[in-house]
Amino acid sequence: MRMEKITHIRPREDRRSLSVNPPITDHFGRTFNYLRLAVNENCNLRCIYCMPEEGIDFRDQHQLLSTSEIFKLIKITSQMGVSKIRFTGGEPLLRDDLLKLIRFANETENVDSIHLTTNGLLLSKYVESLKGAGLSGINISLDTLNPEKFKTITRRDGLNLVLDGLKKAIQSGILSIKVNVVAMRDFNDNEVLDFAELTRENDITVRFIELMPFDSHQIWKTGKFYRAEQIVNDLKSQIKRLNPIYGSSTEHHIFQIQGYAGKVAVIPSYTRSLCGNCNRIRITADGQLLNCLYSQTETNIRDAIRNGRSNQDIKNLIRNAMTEKLRDGWTAQHQGQDQRESMTQIGG
Ligand code: SAM
Repeated sequence: MRMEKITHIRPREDRRSLSVNPPITDHFGRTFNYLRLAVNENCNLRCIYCMPEEGIDFRDQHQLLSTSEIFKLIKITSQMGVSKIRFTGGEPLLRDDLLKLIRFANETENVDSIHLTTNGLLLSKYVESLKGAGLSGINISLDTLNPEKFKTITRRDGLNLVLDGLKKAIQSGILSIKVNVVAMRDFNDNEVLDFAELTRENDITVRFIELMPFDSHQIWKTGKFYRAEQIVNDLKSQIKRLNPIYGSSTEHHIFQIQGYAGKVAVIPSYTRSLCGNCNRIRITADGQLLNCLYSQTETNIRDAIRNGRSNQDIKNLIRNAMTEKLRDGWTAQHQGQDQRESMTQIGG
């Protein structure tokens, strides 16, 4: 499948202010400049590793951050050194004001890049407006290239819609296009080559991601886990001329097949060998800050905003929460009870 790519997004260094507050750091020398904002919890798919068929106990609209509350958070964190923002969910394309949020981020001083994580179902409809609003990157979640398997994993139809969305995203010229594949044993481990083949003609990154135990306990314990090291070994044994290259901080293992336009990566999101490079601040759709994907404690930023706390107070809350980040996701996971039953509440 060849999908033509047209232009590149301009660099935005010219907009960087010299008046950023001290960066957000922690006791382990990490600096946090990447904000991941979940903008809703609801989704138009029901992936079996994420939610039950009937969904979860979704919060009411008034519990979620409003447009102006998200604007405030973007403004405040950008003044603290956040230069990269990702909108996720739930399914972010189901949120009516998403374009407004992207436009706002795009006009915010210090913000260099704005990304979206989506299941791609609605992407072909919105991709041009997303680009016009200033989006610089799209991660599309897609676990199979087989229509029947797609139905099994997502409990919905729609592979063609997602593939069309991917094609239009590549053609749009949006600079960074990634396909996120949750890799599962006996489900899509036999599709590794097909996914890698997408990178032959297209300058995209296909990323195989370890399954994580955020699934309302549906399939985590059923032996589908496919360890990053094993995925890497399988890639190496199946693909000749797989050359290691340099990638982003989460792309722990990254390769390019010789002569191919794109890249292939493996993300050890369960094994957690990448915590030392973490630069992420996560905010859930109901405005709780998580200083780690596996954190068992949350900081309520939404209520601080709703109670009229000053911007300086909110900055202190964020800074203190991030300073207290534990060494790694293993330590974080063992600090208490699970707060969140599904990744749709955290945003991945
Ligand atoms: N709806 C959007 C999407 O599908 O990309 C954004 C939200 S979704 C929760 C974000 C990512 O989390 C998706 O790539 C999804 O595959 C991944 N995810 C959800 N549950 C997971 C789990 N238990 N293990 C690994 N990844 C998971």
